[in-house]
Amino acid sequence: MEASVTLTAGGRTVAEQATETELLEGGVRQGRRLARLLFYRALRELTGREGSPWGILTGVRPTKVGHFFADRGFQPREMEAIFVRYYGLREDKARLLVEVVGRERELLPPERWRRGAAVYVSIPFCPSRCAYCSFPSFPYQKERVREYLQVLRQEIEGAAELIARTGLEVYALYVGGGTPTVLAEEELAELLEVLTSFFAGEHLVEFTVEAGRPDTVGVEKLSLLRSRGVNRVSINPQSFHAATLAIIGRAHSPEEVEKAYFQAREAGFPIINMDLIIGLPGEKEAEVAATVAKVIELEPENVTLHSLALKKGSLLLGAGSPLPLPGDEEAARMMDLARESLRQAGYRPYYLYRQKRIAGLGENVGLARPGTECLYNMAVIEEKGVIFGLGAGATSKVGREEGTVVNIFHARDPVVYARNWEEKAAQREEAVIKSLRAGAEG
Ligand code: SF4
Repeated sequence: MEASVTLTAGGRTVAEQATETELLEGGVRQGRRLARLLFYRALRELTGREGSPWGILTGVRPTKVGHFFADRGFQPREMEAIFVRYYGLREDKARLLVEVVGRERELLPPERWRRGAAVYVSIPFCPSRCAYCSFPSFPYQKERVREYLQVLRQEIEGAAELIARTGLEVYALYVGGGTPTVLAEEELAELLEVLTSFFAGEHLVEFTVEAGRPDTVGVEKLSLLRSRGVNRVSINPQSFHAATLAIIGRAHSPEEVEKAYFQAREAGFPIINMDLIIGLPGEKEAEVAATVAKVIELEPENVTLHSLALKKGSLLLGAGSPLPLPGDEEAARMMDLARESLRQAGYRPYYLYRQKRIAGLGENVGLARPGTECLYNMAVIEEKGVIFGLGAGATSKVGREEGTVVNIFHARDPVVYARNWEEKAAQREEAVIKSLRAGAEG
């Protein structure tokens, strides 16, 4: 395969050409890849910029490309070399990618997702809006929430009926948002009751609830969650610096995070996740190092490192940051520092994804103490099997054997969701039945 690219800008011309004699699998796919690689190299040359550590893997799910090669029998070392040579990745990113692909293949084998289903339930309400947030998040209002939960219940019932009819086995339940724990205790109790009555069964191995904002939990709510079978909870510091939390609109202190964490431990949660964001306004290496040291001291089972991504709809992008944001190089250094400190403390990366406008041209990476990884997180990134996304802003995914996926998106606004959820549920049902039929015939 031969390709050449010539770029001209500002009176300069740069040409790149390559001949590949050892072809990788997938002719058309590789043709596109080679064209992109040459274009990328030419751009680097023309602009004098170093480029991205992820080379031409600009999409959200670089690990999917890893699975493409692993499915075809390539070994980890070969895959690392392919990513460096044919995709322009920096060596450390190629190693990280291949490591994560290996973990995912161990932890989420086809036997799990072929007959399995994960269920995501969205509670799109929060006590206040964080400055970086682009999730579906609306202020908690009693009446609005009551109406939403009524509609959500109907959707849950419909999904449960389809799951029972098709014999799918629910292995993961995940309640996210928003902040599900913003619900009043009685609302939460009713929701948990509905979920367990429909989905708790012999195949369910994980039941996660995001309790991201410590200002929404206390002993009672945490004990309630635990008593209804929730075995994983997220309590998210983002940063352990009070000044940073104030800037990003988190209406809580670092001490409240610690308090909620210990309350969750006392309630008996076997697995606690903590989310951190790298690249927050005004934060430098010293702040990140101190935050990570605090997390290591607390010993949650899972830690998720997000590189700050300035997304559409976030206040930080709209109004601008009140303090300088770190440059790409600095953000990348801080991410490496955080990840490697956690690695030394016994955590291993097991899922990763990228986003647009991500600090340091980096990635988001989930780390876990071995044996505590979250199956739902892997399934949703790899788009494996069927994922029922229930509620406003949720996405259902129906993965097919050959690697394609049908996405069905619910409206983010609870009022719009209430109007058109049935239409979306019908689309989901059709996709699920088609996929299961194809699987049975295949
Ligand atoms: S708690 Fe999470 S979902 Fe709610 S506003 Fe903050 S970032 Fe958004």
